[in-house]
Amino acid sequence: MKFNKNVFLRDLEYLVNIDSGTRTAEGVAKVADYLIKKYEAAGLTVKRYVFDPLLGPCVEARNHPECDDIDLLLIGHMDTVFPPGTAAARPYREEDGKAYGPGVADMKSGDLLALTLVEELQEAGVDLNICIANNPDEEIGSPSADAWLLDLGKKSKFCFDFEPGRAGGDFVKTRKGVQHLTIQMEGIAAHAGVNPDAGASAILEMSRWACHFADMKDGLGGTYVNFGVVKGGTVYNMVPNYCECGVDLRFDTMEALEKIHNELYRMAENPYDSRIKVKIDSNGCTPPMTTNENSLKLMDLMKEEGKKLGQTFDFIGTGGGSDASRISAAGAATMDACGPVGYHTHNEGEYIVLSSIEERLQILFNVCVRLWGNQ
Ligand SMILES: [Zn+2]
Repeated sequence: MKFNKNVFLRDLEYLVNIDSGTRTAEGVAKVADYLIKKYEAAGLTVKRYVFDPLLGPCVEARNHPECDDIDLLLIGHMDTVFPPGTAAARPYREEDGKAYGPGVADMKSGDLLALTLVEELQEAGVDLNICIANNPDEEIGSPSADAWLLDLGKKSKFCFDFEPGRAGGDFVKTRKGVQHLTIQMEGIAAHAGVNPDAGASAILEMSRWACHFADMKDGLGGTYVNFGVVKGGTVYNMVPNYCECGVDLRFDTMEALEKIHNELYRMAENPYDSRIKVKIDSNGCTPPMTTNENSLKLMDLMKEEGKKLGQTFDFIGTGGGSDASRISAAGAATMDACGPVGYHTHNEGEYIVLSSIEERLQILFNVCVRLWGNQ
């Protein structure tokens, strides 16, 4: 391998020290420009799209731009969850075999690892048809990149998402789907002391709904319904005529989501208090990441190659969403958490384990060699 850890770490330092929180379009563009320079130096053909100028560019780098189909899609987002000023306040640093800084694990080291993997494959003459895709908006559910990622996913056979590797080097094979709903309830206002029975409390109705879904939790087969944000009422002495709630749904299959929708709409038609009017709006949906026949084969390959390298890792499921879910829903066999092993993401203590950079590179490289040989 021609892997040069020092070059990797200096690139990482440069990228981590750019503030590229979602909607910091200028910072995201700076990250994109740097990656593009690297991709072009590696001989890749690059396209830069701006689907929403407030979010910043998407980058697509291909080694065989003439082909439509993709053997292996490598994805990584360029945005972080940190506001401008974070990089200056706590810049990149290395200590005790770890690297710290905003976005170091989630997922600037992963973005660089994808590039490094391609460089190694080229060096070794492993001619898989590869596409790298970087988006600016994963941390808010990829509103601008969604259609583009879905399209790439449809063309791809396999996908590695370079989100941070999990404790012990585990990879992520499944993720729950996510949907956010806004439930609005309109009741009837009344004086809390004079004529309370004339009122229809929107807050009481919403509370009953929250209890209902908490009570049926065991019957939901792994679906979580979280009443996360509640707003309602105006003054202490009035039966509240309005309540609004932001609800987060997590589910394993689209059928499970449909089941929850059916229950919600049944209740909207038949509220506990028949005087209450209910309105439910959904704000997009991230599908669940699931396994298919090809991903099972991919896991077998990874296990075999891991064993040869003396790496013991597992494939786990998680409740959090990522773009791997979009690609998986599009049909590609998708493996997530391919980046260096990271801890405390979305948090000040975020770091990666430096020794895992080479370990990840080696296992993914060996797996790519096998994928190529199997063609
Ligand atoms: Zn991430």
